[in-house]
Amino acid sequence: MKTHVRALVVGGGAVGCSIAYHLARAGWDTMLLERDELTSGSTWHAAGLLPLFNMSYATTHIHKYSVDFYKTLEAETGLNPGFAVVGNLRMAQTQERMDEYMLYSSVAETAGVHHEFLTPKEIRERWPLVRTDDLKGALFHPQDGYINPADVTQAMAKGARQHGCAIERKWQVDSYEWTGSEWRVTARKMVEKGGNLVPGDEKVVITAEHVVTATGNHAQRTARLLGIRIPAIPVEHQYIVTEPDPALVEWRKAGNPEHPVLRDADARWYVREERGGWILGPYERGAPARFLYDVPESFRADLFPLDLERIEEEYMSMIHRIPSSENVGLKDDFNGPICYTPDGNPLVGPAPGLRNMWLAEGFSFGITAAGGTGYYLAQMMTEGEAEIDMASLDPKRYGSWMTTEYAARKNEECYAHVFILHHPDEEREACRPLRTAPNYDRQKALGAQFGQVNGWERPNYYGPKDAPEDYDHHARSFRRAKWWPFAVEEARAIRETAGLIDATAFTKHVVRGPGATAFLDRFTCNALPRVGRINLTYALTEAGTTRTEYTIVRWGENDYYLVSAGAWTAYDADYLRKRAEDFMAGGGDYVEIHDVTTQYGVFAIAGPNSRAILGEIVKDADPATVLSNKRFPWLTARRIELGMCPVNAIRVAYTGELGWELHHPIEMSRYLWDLLLPAGERHGMKLVGARAQNWLRQEKSYRAFGTELGRDATPLEAGLDRFVDLRKDFIGKQAMLDTGIRAKCVTVLIDGPDDADPWGKEAILHDGEMVGRLTSGGWSVAFGKQIGMGYVRPDLAEVGQKLKVRMLRQEWDAEVVEDSPYDPKNERIRADG
Ligand SMILES: Cc1cc2nc3c(=O)[nH]c(=O)nc-3n(C[C@H](O)[C@H](O)[C@H](O)COP(=O)(O)OP(=O)(O)OC[C@H]3O[C@@H](n4cnc5c(N)ncnc54)[C@H](O)[C@@H]3O)c2cc1C
Repeated sequence: MKTHVRALVVGGGAVGCSIAYHLARAGWDTMLLERDELTSGSTWHAAGLLPLFNMSYATTHIHKYSVDFYKTLEAETGLNPGFAVVGNLRMAQTQERMDEYMLYSSVAETAGVHHEFLTPKEIRERWPLVRTDDLKGALFHPQDGYINPADVTQAMAKGARQHGCAIERKWQVDSYEWTGSEWRVTARKMVEKGGNLVPGDEKVVITAEHVVTATGNHAQRTARLLGIRIPAIPVEHQYIVTEPDPALVEWRKAGNPEHPVLRDADARWYVREERGGWILGPYERGAPARFLYDVPESFRADLFPLDLERIEEEYMSMIHRIPSSENVGLKDDFNGPICYTPDGNPLVGPAPGLRNMWLAEGFSFGITAAGGTGYYLAQMMTEGEAEIDMASLDPKRYGSWMTTEYAARKNEECYAHVFILHHPDEEREACRPLRTAPNYDRQKALGAQFGQVNGWERPNYYGPKDAPEDYDHHARSFRRAKWWPFAVEEARAIRETAGLIDATAFTKHVVRGPGATAFLDRFTCNALPRVGRINLTYALTEAGTTRTEYTIVRWGENDYYLVSAGAWTAYDADYLRKRAEDFMAGGGDYVEIHDVTTQYGVFAIAGPNSRAILGEIVKDADPATVLSNKRFPWLTARRIELGMCPVNAIRVAYTGELGWELHHPIEMSRYLWDLLLPAGERHGMKLVGARAQNWLRQEKSYRAFGTELGRDATPLEAGLDRFVDLRKDFIGKQAMLDTGIRAKCVTVLIDGPDDADPWGKEAILHDGEMVGRLTSGGWSVAFGKQIGMGYVRPDLAEVGQKLKVRMLRQEWDAEVVEDSPYDPKNERIRADG
């Protein structure tokens, strides 16, 4: 056995084999270790469906790659992976479900996934065994279907071997040690003992420059060995196989093709043909999480007992949809562990806090995702970045606040939500409230409807004060939802009077020490602010794309306060710390980094009356001038006192109005709230949530992290040239310049439909051809039109360019407008008083 490799992959399921294949194909010396047999984890009992349907841009790319890749495997390896390209019919019982498919259609179009819409009549004509009288229609993917999970895994393993990868079975990795330059991985030979598979005495130590873990249901053990948290915990998933259905047998005997995989999303199941019978896979409520701490040694390629009662409702609805299945008996059943994560996305990317350690854990659609995961993860490892932004899958999207109990309960919810309506304004209920800012109860009493960001409760909008608990649940829509008029009023208040936003969830870091200035100067692409001033700046990846957006406040020569997006605390902390370590290892002076996110509460006050409101409560020798342009100009920071609360005030407003961010000791948050509200009331101030804020920032063309800003575009492509100082050297500079402009970020105003706004998933067209996509969307109160931001072909990014945006499967006129179409000269933000 090899004892030194460039990359060691741990786990021989579909995911591990795909990663090994793609790393080996990229020319890396790779080895894969599997504790048992290949496919002996969840892979062996998967139903093998390859659904392309997904609302996420990144995941859609991953799934699409898999489906295309699996079709090439036989030619390359000689092994037939058993891909039955029967298509996939996703039925809709309601108009809302059809709306969901129309939104999905946008995602699919931007990712190049072919799909069709079928009417009930068309379904009935093609598949008469399916009952259609209560359907509104269906979405049809003719190019997907199902595959044999074991065969596709073996084919990828063979392909990996052909590219030089070594695959060793019956070796379990038992420890990982980072030497400072490589991993020392100890593996034990597994032996049979009393029917169990247990570690024997034989041991091997392998050194590897990089390690990837793809350990499926064993993720908790992997987490323990690595000393990190991995919120991948399996949930039970069952499917049943029926005896042959005589009507189906006859239909096929007549020479008809196999049915596509059928999905009755409103009834929460999939069904496909299996030897003349049917496989029914329900995503029922109440499926329990399993193996919260570990997989017992006695559990090998085992299954849990069938719980038929739990899936009775779905079973009955299959009979409703396929009436001929009523009298066929059950032949077989499977109830196996299927790994989940709290948001349903797998965890793919660098492990938190560790070097050269990559995770590929928590796959619930692992057969579908394996191919694409291998491809994009190998790109990240061998080339530095993947061609798509993988941030939504990054393992560091959960911080140290995440616990086993949280992961287990959220994963159960995620499983039960597989077939819910995937509203873009959805907020899931489990494990809430958990992380609450001090004014949570006060805000709730005032009608706040909360969303969860990185575990924090953050008001999305303020609805009726006496709203029932489930108000928001019923307020969602693919079109304009019930919350829309509240957000309009909130946006209007910021433009006309004033609004108060609780922005406590912001990520905040203190960076200081003798090396702080030199470090940050290289870490970020904009010139550092002078003492007392602030700057907007970006940390880039080595590939020159945007890793993080920061507002940097410089309090002293070597004393900085960095504010970044609330959803990404651990993700930002990890990069900051690792780059600071590199800086010091390279001879740089000492730099201290502190995550102070939970030490400071933040209120953002904005609007023409915001100065007057603060003026009522500010304490200063000369309160009349303390907030004036002379003493407190735009883009500066000052320590002020509001009543008895010391506040680090920053004169910026993400909404583009005169305003301040008030960073204050979190324990004084309630005091400050109680001070601000009565003062605000006298000046028409409204409480404002994240939805209105998201619209307003688009009127100012303020890019947001995770939408316009990500690891697939450089700041120059994002149109942020004025925040890039080319006179200095910074991480990713040359790569950014070498990349050129592949697409350009623009703001568009859209003459859209009367009852819907874009969500930031829609295709942008020109002369009937797709030329870009929206990354954000909403309603502009200032312009009385739909607004969006997105990326288009550079030659179509000029102001005044006429384009179309496809929403609800229709094309709507759109026009590229100047950056910051609302108050382009920033006169309102700079207003004096
Ligand atoms: C009933 C059921 C039906 C499903 N149907 C579908 C479907 O239709 N479509 C779909 O896409 N997905 C489906 N899934 C999900 C799918 O099975 C999984 O997402 C997928 O198999 C995950 O693959 P993996 O490689 O991540 O994990 P696994 O297949 O579990 O592989 C992990 C491997 O790592 C090994 N390992 C763990 N720890 C170590 C160690 N320390 N050292 C060495 N080796 C180690 C294990 O032995 C195991 O072989 C289904 C799941 C279930 C339960």
